[in-house]
Amino acid sequence: MTTTHTAQPDDALVAALRAAVGADGVLTDTEVTASYSRDMMPLAPSATPVAVVLPSSTEQVRAVVRACAAAGVPIVPRGAGSGLSGAANAVAGCVVLVTTRMNQIIEVDADNRLAVVEPGVVNLDLRAAVEKRGLFYPPDPSSYDWCTIGGNLSTNAGGLCCVKYGVTTDSVLGLEVVLADGELLRTGRRTVKGVAGYDLTKLFIGSEGTLGVITRATLALRPLPQAPATLVAAFDSTAAAGAAVATIVREGVVPSLMEIMDQTSISAVEQHLNTELGAEPGCAALLICQSDSGGDAGRRELAVIEQVCRDSGANLVHATDDLAEGRMLLAARRSVLTALEVYGAWLTDDVCVPRTRIAELISGCERISRECGLRIAVVGHAGDGNMHPTIVYDPTSEREFARARTAFGDILALGLRLGGTITGEHGVGKIKQEWLAREIGPVGLRVHRGIKAALDPDNLFNPGSMFSMS
Ligand SMILES: Cc1cc2nc3c(=O)[nH]c(=O)nc-3n(C[C@H](O)[C@H](O)[C@H](O)COP(=O)(O)OP(=O)(O)OC[C@H]3O[C@@H](n4cnc5c(N)ncnc54)[C@H](O)[C@@H]3O)c2cc1C
Repeated sequence: MTTTHTAQPDDALVAALRAAVGADGVLTDTEVTASYSRDMMPLAPSATPVAVVLPSSTEQVRAVVRACAAAGVPIVPRGAGSGLSGAANAVAGCVVLVTTRMNQIIEVDADNRLAVVEPGVVNLDLRAAVEKRGLFYPPDPSSYDWCTIGGNLSTNAGGLCCVKYGVTTDSVLGLEVVLADGELLRTGRRTVKGVAGYDLTKLFIGSEGTLGVITRATLALRPLPQAPATLVAAFDSTAAAGAAVATIVREGVVPSLMEIMDQTSISAVEQHLNTELGAEPGCAALLICQSDSGGDAGRRELAVIEQVCRDSGANLVHATDDLAEGRMLLAARRSVLTALEVYGAWLTDDVCVPRTRIAELISGCERISRECGLRIAVVGHAGDGNMHPTIVYDPTSEREFARARTAFGDILALGLRLGGTITGEHGVGKIKQEWLAREIGPVGLRVHRGIKAALDPDNLFNPGSMFSMS
């Protein structure tokens, strides 16, 4: 089923939106609305929205949804716009609904280890608030100092913690969602266990704004982990680093973080930070691991990892429980994208492969880099196989951009060939629709369309994102 949407908001729609959220919550100046038209993914198509609305409450979101539904105008929900798949990009004639004014941490219940939050809360603000109560909210996308919980929920965001603590969905107990007819759906529970009905909470997590607007979330918290001890190991081949990852997994050790950087990432960061990461010249890959188990348990974990790295051929292994040094090593890992900006614009991929195939992914990316003649740095979450091969190109050159686009697709194809998935955490959005269809097949696509049609029959929310309805 397709729906035709109007290109311009009529006066009646603008009036209804102003009635819903107040005049200062409706932006229509195209110079302003243009800044809400796209996220951080350069490949994805976008359009200028006809209006941007900034509701402050669930009731305001409901009124906006009803106004847009009545006018037949699509809605693209948006948090901070830090996404890397174009999922929050405006579509022609749409209203962009921005949640940043809904930024209240409503409750932190230490006895039941949960928090109730609005969607516009910034990830790091939540982490800091619960830390004061001795609690821990694990999901930690690298963008955590500006991305929102609503965006994290809607993309099922991951981060550096996933090897031990899972992705966003593993920390969610329940949601409040405004549906396409303006009704309010409450999913999930506040209890640790609960199996009543379909798991609608998980259905909305990762739905990329295509099924409704999340207006509240009940999140599971954990006790604050111990201060992390850190280990860094340098390898002169990616195959050796890949073998170390697989052996660490097989040994049954669960580090709280296990990241890999290839040679291109290492040299970019060393240049950017004007420092040496402890890697010897010719180092092909660096593994950074942490244990947050503390005390003897933490020391035992790092000792096993150290032994595995040495047995796998690491030519340098360094372990430290010095917090500042550990933070410095992690800062280096987190600064890869910024470091690459010296060479040009970046386009980051997000394939996830079985952990035993990481080395093949890296060597495959080296081949693709040679073929397209562009620098490709591979950095990623080795502990869960989620790799971010990042293509660097000259943004002023259409030919380089075209080659970068081809390389982006080649990396996705490589990930699938290695038994992986096209996205480990960034989502499908407006760049990987065909790849989603390829990965899930016709039956999977039919079920996706059926769910969308049941919840959003007029294709109101983020139409065309993730998959088309025809
Ligand atoms: C430098 C950098 C590093 C990054 N590192 C990571 C990383 O380590 N791990 C990771 O997973 N991602 C990472 N990202 C990607 C991005 O930060 C995440 O996808 C994040 O979850 C997006 O949050 P946001 O608030 O910016 O959402 P947006 O980009 O605004 O929106 C993302 C999606 O969520 C939908 N949405 C937002 N709010 C709602 C809501 N309330 N209800 C319904 N739908 C909604 C939007 O429609 C869109 O589909 C990184 C991005 C950058 C730029």
